[in-house]
Amino acid sequence: MHTQLLINGRLVEGQGSALPVYNPATGEVIAHIAQASAAQVEEAVNAADKAFTEWGQTTPKERAALLLQVADVIEQQGEVLAKLESQNCGKPYQRVLEDEIPAIADVFRFFAGATRCLSGPVAGEYLPDHTSMIRRDPVGVIASIAPWNYPLMMAAWKLAPALAAGNTVVLKPSEQTPLTAFHLSQTLADLFPAGVVNVLFGLGKDVGDVLTGHPKVRMVSLTGSIGTGAHIIEHTASTIKRTHMELGGKAPVIVFDDADVEKVVEGIRIFGFYNAGQDCTAACRLYVQKSIYQKVVDALAQTVSTLDMGNPGDESTELGPLITEQHLQRVEGFVERAKALPHITVATGGSRVNGPGFYFQPTILAGAKQDDEIVQKEVFGPVITITPFDDEAQVLGWANDSNYGLASSVWTRDVGRAHRMSARLQYGCTWVNTHFMLVSEMPHGGQKLSGYGKDMSMFGLEDYTVVRHVMINHG
Ligand code: NAD
Repeated sequence: MHTQLLINGRLVEGQGSALPVYNPATGEVIAHIAQASAAQVEEAVNAADKAFTEWGQTTPKERAALLLQVADVIEQQGEVLAKLESQNCGKPYQRVLEDEIPAIADVFRFFAGATRCLSGPVAGEYLPDHTSMIRRDPVGVIASIAPWNYPLMMAAWKLAPALAAGNTVVLKPSEQTPLTAFHLSQTLADLFPAGVVNVLFGLGKDVGDVLTGHPKVRMVSLTGSIGTGAHIIEHTASTIKRTHMELGGKAPVIVFDDADVEKVVEGIRIFGFYNAGQDCTAACRLYVQKSIYQKVVDALAQTVSTLDMGNPGDESTELGPLITEQHLQRVEGFVERAKALPHITVATGGSRVNGPGFYFQPTILAGAKQDDEIVQKEVFGPVITITPFDDEAQVLGWANDSNYGLASSVWTRDVGRAHRMSARLQYGCTWVNTHFMLVSEMPHGGQKLSGYGKDMSMFGLEDYTVVRHVMINHG
């Protein structure tokens, strides 16, 4: 298979150099992308800019009708999309089909409805004989840049609100995981007027830089690493673009001694290891109150060691491989350095798996200390640390002692404590007695180095609009 680009309503061959696309479960090359050339980036941005003149004037109802059709196609083609995503990312097929495809369709449906409810003009008289109105208008051409860990989901989180608000888009999926976005490109070409949605493949430093630096691009929305986010903010500074940054995370999971240990263990087995832990909200940094610490370590080690790791295509598989050999080595490096510390015990796992594919054992490292590299840095793999704590004040300090600020969770039966902790945790989201659960109606996004701006929800939709003031003299 080789991918094509979607530019101005047509699928075309990329004129840049070719890159291989791998199946991480086998290490085999399964496709090639031909990158966009600089001239093709220019063409896509110009097409989006031209299309904006009309698309920006369509009614929410018209746009909603198309987004609803995208949702239908995603559901109808769910099995094909899930298979491609599974082969390209190593995600268990069944999880993509049952968890991700419905959630992706729902994002398009949510924004189809939301744009029709976006707070309309608010009128008021602040000078005699003058009526003021607020308008929320689209921003213009949006460059949407997506990562490899949830390729189709992240494309949906970017396309749906941007299009719903009346913007035109140039989407650049990750060069490592282009297959589902490519598959969807034909549908997008069929449904939307030429130029409204464009899809370009290629490396960040080539295609990405040309795209985000283009003066006609008025906003860049990135989900990716902190390094890429910082680079884009700098790179776009001279053209004064709006940026929207969904970056890394290192979620603290705080387990008090009154929590239901069985539920905690059941939850962490899923929320720590979904997508092999390659998730910005993964439940990876556990703090457990001292009196139940050993009990939780033992129970978690037991249940996590039963995770079914294997072929992502098999129905029973719970844990697939990491995305690349390079990423596997990165995760292995973190774990090896942690294992060398005298206070850390490997409760389960701890090593890469020999054989084809980029597999790493589900791993629990007990006794980690706050200053350890593995507690401070995003590992992005099936690796959890557990640290014992004494009381609320201590654990709150540790939980907030992080450069990241995306997601957190608190496990307790004490309602007062749940409220106190939620109010003081410096994270975009705090779950109580759960973790990882997202809904289209609620915002997702971070603080600190995890970024700014919200995905999903009305807040997400508003992020893709400009607020304007219109004043009418009717005297
Ligand atoms: P990455 O930053 O390497 O790549 C993300 C995207 O940015 C890719 O499409 C890449 O090609 C592009 N890119 C790279 N350099 C660029 C440049 N100079 N100009 C324009 N685009 C450029 O990240 P990744 O490794 O693909 O994804 C993993 C990271 O994403 C992790 O840090 C993870 O926490 C984060 N993430 C965050 C969220 C969230 O919601 N906050 C969700 C998923 C992933």
